[in-house]
Amino acid sequence: MANDITFSMIKPEAVKEGNAGAILKMIEEAGFKVSAMKMTKLSKFRAGQFYAVHADRPFYTDLCDYMSSGPIIALRLKKDNAVNDFRKLIGATDPQKAEEGTIRKLYARSIQENAVHGSDSDANAKIESDFFFSGIEKY
Ligand code: UDP
Ligand code: MG
Repeated sequence: MANDITFSMIKPEAVKEGNAGAILKMIEEAGFKVSAMKMTKLSKFRAGQFYAVHADRPFYTDLCDYMSSGPIIALRLKKDNAVNDFRKLIGATDPQKAEEGTIRKLYARSIQENAVHGSDSDANAKIESDFFFSGIEKY
């Protein structure tokens, strides 16, 4: 199925604050199956590559500093309608605008330190998963 994969990261502040387990529990309870998972630390260069689409935005340099400030947990997730359902589960980019019960409402600190990443399209879900995981790491 084309639309059954999304890619997520549990971002540095959420890992540092010990929220990774609670976030993963919410993801699994929402019906997503973990298809690949790894903890790793992005260099500033790698963070810049991952977020290259935002290179012209004013927040890009800060975003790359933040995303390389500590380890992240990369996740490839499977579910029907994965991309859209996952965006609903995480809530709006700005936690103040995120709906009650969403991961960002519960765990984000700010529009930048917003706990989790979620792909915005099926095409980007594949690109982002392949950025982190090789063929033998995806189940
Ligand atoms: N971001 C930020 N300031 C902004 C908008 C975004 O620091 O004004 C950061 C935030 O961490 C966000 C990431 O840049 O998750 C990517 O932005 P995007 O608009 O793609 O939001 P997302 O898809 O993560 O909701
Ligand atoms: Mg985005």
